[in-house]
Amino acid sequence: MKLKIQRYIKEKEFNTLIEYDVEKKVTTLLEALEYIKQTKDSSLAFESGCRSGVCGSCSVQVDGKATLACSHKLQEDAVVVEPLKNMPLIRDLVVDMTQAYQTTKKAQAWLHLLDKETKITDEDEHINRVQSDCILCGSCYSACPVFAVNKNFLGPFALTRSWKYVADKREAQPAVDVLQTDGIWDCTLCNECTMVCPQEISSKADIEKLRSKSAMMGYSDPNFAANFGGFELSF
Ligand code: SF4
Ligand code: SF4
Repeated sequence: MKLKIQRYIKEKEFNTLIEYDVEKKVTTLLEALEYIKQTKDSSLAFESGCRSGVCGSCSVQVDGKATLACSHKLQEDAVVVEPLKNMPLIRDLVVDMTQAYQTTKKAQAWLHLLDKETKITDEDEHINRVQSDCILCGSCYSACPVFAVNKNFLGPFALTRSWKYVADKREAQPAVDVLQTDGIWDCTLCNECTMVCPQEISSKADIEKLRSKSAMMGYSDPNFAANFGGFELSF
């Protein structure tokens, strides 16, 4: 088994792919990375935590697609392992996710005004349970073409978290106003975020629901208004 891994070459101050042989039989990419670190190069930098797909810390790109190293089963020779995209690189496979995490704060993804009279049922909780399953792995931000070009875009997991609270029956003041700029209308609905999510969360579907909710509350797509605002209907 051969792996090509993106490494930072300190002496030359640039990143390049270096090929490693993994002679030991391993099942997952994380096992291979640990083998390389223990036997070939102790300076290899990557993150890991729970080793069971729960903490979200070991996300990397394999052949251009974001995945969790601990869950990724190795089958082929010469896979290319790179850090997540769209986030500042710290070293080798480690990126700084601060900017992506801050989008949750910008989106004000929490309950704002709790209506204590309204109770939620088990069924209500179940409907939006999946949004709570996000493990903050950052894969969706790596895959998102809009976040790639606009770091102010709120992005997939912040908008998914927003939908969880906007849809909560106890929320007396749904915070959709903060989602109108660099938010729900900027998404291209490409579904790339859904394709890489290890928790099978569809941020795209949540964004569509946020659009509907916003429309019901009197908001509209500013791009549509900008493009067609000059037209008047006549009968
Ligand atoms: S569906 Fe929207 S949020 Fe998801 S990757 Fe595409 S542009 Fe980004
Ligand atoms: S929504 Fe999915 S892909 Fe995005 S951070 Fe959460 S678990 Fe990872």
